[in-house]
Order: sequence, then structure tokens, then C-alpha cells
Amino acid sequence: MIIKSLSVRNFRNIASADFIFDPKVNIFTGNNAQGKTNLCEAISVCFGKSFRNPKTGELLPFGSTEKETSIEMCFTFDNISEKENTIRYTQKKNTADLKFNGIDMKDAEKLYGALRYVLFIPEDLYIVKGDPSKRRDYIDFVSNMINRVHNLKLYEYNKALKQKNNILMNMSIYDNNAGIMLESWNETLAKLGVNVMCGRIKYFDMLSEAAADYYDMINGGNEKLSLCYESSVMGDKKFTAEDFEMMYDIYMKKLRETSDRELRMKYTVVGAHRDDVSFFVDNMPAKDFASQGQIRSIAVALKLAEAKMIKDKSDDVPIVILDDVLSELDGYRRGFIINHIENFQVFITSCNLADTDKFSDGRIWNVKNGTFDLIEV
Ligand code: ATP
Ligand code: MG
Repeated sequence: MIIKSLSVRNFRNIASADFIFDPKVNIFTGNNAQGKTNLCEAISVCFGKSFRNPKTGELLPFGSTEKETSIEMCFTFDNISEKENTIRYTQKKNTADLKFNGIDMKDAEKLYGALRYVLFIPEDLYIVKGDPSKRRDYIDFVSNMINRVHNLKLYEYNKALKQKNNILMNMSIYDNNAGIMLESWNETLAKLGVNVMCGRIKYFDMLSEAAADYYDMINGGNEKLSLCYESSVMGDKKFTAEDFEMMYDIYMKKLRETSDRELRMKYTVVGAHRDDVSFFVDNMPAKDFASQGQIRSIAVALKLAEAKMIKDKSDDVPIVILDDVLSELDGYRRGFIINHIENFQVFITSCNLADTDKFSDGRIWNVKNGTFDLIEV
């Protein structure tokens, strides 16, 4: 999709702003706390939900007497079609309303499918350098993005895991029946756990390949990125999403092997909830060895891979929002991001105008105190 224009009224520190966007690259530069992320958020609101999860009423400007926030976004589904569509968001004190060409958004989604955007925010760096749970969440998010039943599988697994852990809490290590009692829970967990792992691994190669390609482009081919799904159950044994039976057998064996430890620790020590993803740059684990710029480049490569997956797996072409993406990147990497992301309309924010000195084709705004001035490129 291509966002043609956007009008924002009474949204956080943006009293009133109107934009005609470039179909390729749009950059917003300005000092801290001027309204760059607020604008990115305003765009996300038009897609159904703010990425900041605000409380009711938080979007209205502080202390303002205005009673209504409104955002209107005009877009085409692709670069060729002439037909413009409109999404209009309005929020009064306690009520919010989102309409697509005048139809309630939920009904419109049934007609047109969900509109999608891909977002990089600095918190995404934790996908690479944070706890394993951040990476699991990310892989689950990507899996669910392509296959909407993934979250349901995950929900069922987590429910069964919680139930088994509750039983472990109340079980004694000396209980002679422990093994028998745990067996049926293990069967359920192994089945649901393999389901979750298969859901994750199914699109993992696709994500890995696309992320490696983008990483190549970002750094000019000097370093190689690779991803590896690390399973607490399967260890070094290779598996694909088709190996359900084999995985189930190994899963059961592993649960039986670890039952003493489980009884002592009082929780399930192996399974889909303990899996992780490793990122390697030139075969070195990124979590331990990558520089700030490399970590940022990996996170951006993942986000662009996400956009490519949406495009390849559905008819949707998402827009890409990269908030505060350029800091810590060298000139070459910045040059790629501002000039060479193809196939997607991109929105980029930066604190430093100098970071965009090589910008060659698109529109750039200076942001100050919630106002946006278009600069000649
Ligand atoms: P940075 O470069 O530090 O990320 P930014 O330009 O992205 O800065 P924003 O996150 O867009 O900054 O925030 C701009 C300002 O808007 C902040 O000072 C913030 O406190 C303010 N702000 C947030 N919510 C509201 C609101 N409801 N009303 C008025 N101002 C708000
Ligand atoms: Mg910001």
C-alpha cells in the first residue's frame, strides 16, 4: 500500500499537521521530544492500534480544551491503482471510532483483509540482545503473522504448561506415583509443544534467508548473518515442520529424562517455552559479540524480512516505519536505509539531520514542537 496523505488534529503534541507523502521514502528529523514518534504512532493508529498502547484519553494534547483527536489517512492499495481509500480515526473522551471508507474497520477487514505495517522501534534491539523470551515472542509474532492459528496453538500449550507446573508445585519428589501422574500431562504437552515448534519452524527458514539477504545489503556484503532455532528438546538434531512424529518421540523421551529435575525445581524444565533463536554474524554469536551497529543492523534486517514475508505470503504490501533507526549506523548502512529499501513505502525518523546527508530521492521534514516543515532535498 502507499499512503498518499495524512491529516492529524489534536494528537499528543501535534495540534494540526497535514502531509502529502512520497511513495518511496519519507524522513522526519528533529531534536528529541519534538513529535517524530508521535507521528509514527498516529500512522499506527490508522492501522487499528497504537504501538504504544495508550490509556484512554492519553492521545489528546495535555491541558488542551480540544475535545476530539482525529487522524485521516488516504492511501492506495498499490502504486498503480488510482482509487484512493480513506481511514478516519476519531477519539472523543471515552470513545474511539475507526472507519475505512466510511465502514466500521472491523467490517472493512472482512471485505478487504487487514492492512499491515512493519515497525522498527529502538526496543526491538532487545530481540537480538535481550532475554530468550524476547526472541521467542518475536518468532511467535512472525509465525502468527503468516498463520493466524499459531497464537491459538501457543495459548493451548501455555495453558497445559501452567496446569502441569501447578501439579509439580504440589507434588513430592518422593511420590511413587509421580511418574504415572506426569505421563498423561507429558503426552498433552509434547503434542501441543511440537505443534508450537512446528508453527515456528515452518516460516523460520524464510525469515532467516530474507534477514540474511537484507543484512548483506545493509552492510555491503562484508559480514554474513545467520539464524538458528535452538530447541531445548531437539538439541542438535535437525528437524522440519513435517517431522511431527519424530519430534513427539524425542519430546516425550526428554520429558521423562528430566522428570527428576522437574520434581526438584517444581516446573517443566524443557519444552517449546524454553526454546531460543541465535543470531550469528560471521559465525560469532551476536548476543555476546556483536557491536551496537551490528545489533541494530540485525534488528532492521529482521523487520525488512518481515515486510518481505508479508508481501510474498499475501497480496498485501505493508508500509515500513523505522523510528530512530539511523543512530549508531555508519554512513554506508545509513545510506542503504535512506536510499535503497525497495518495494515498500518507508517512513524514517532521525534526531540528526546530518544522518540524512546522502538522501537522494523522497521527502524530508523538519520536526519542531509538533510542527512539520518540508525541506527541499
Ligand atoms: P525522540 O527523538 O527523543 O524519540 P520524538 O521527537 O520522537 O523524540 P515524541 O515521542 O514524538 O518525541 O514526543 C514528543 C513530545 O510529545 C514529548 O515531549 C512528549 O512528552 C509529548 N507528548 C506525549 N503525549 C502528549 C500529549 N498527550 N499531549 C502533549 N504532548 C504529549
Ligand atoms: Mg522518538
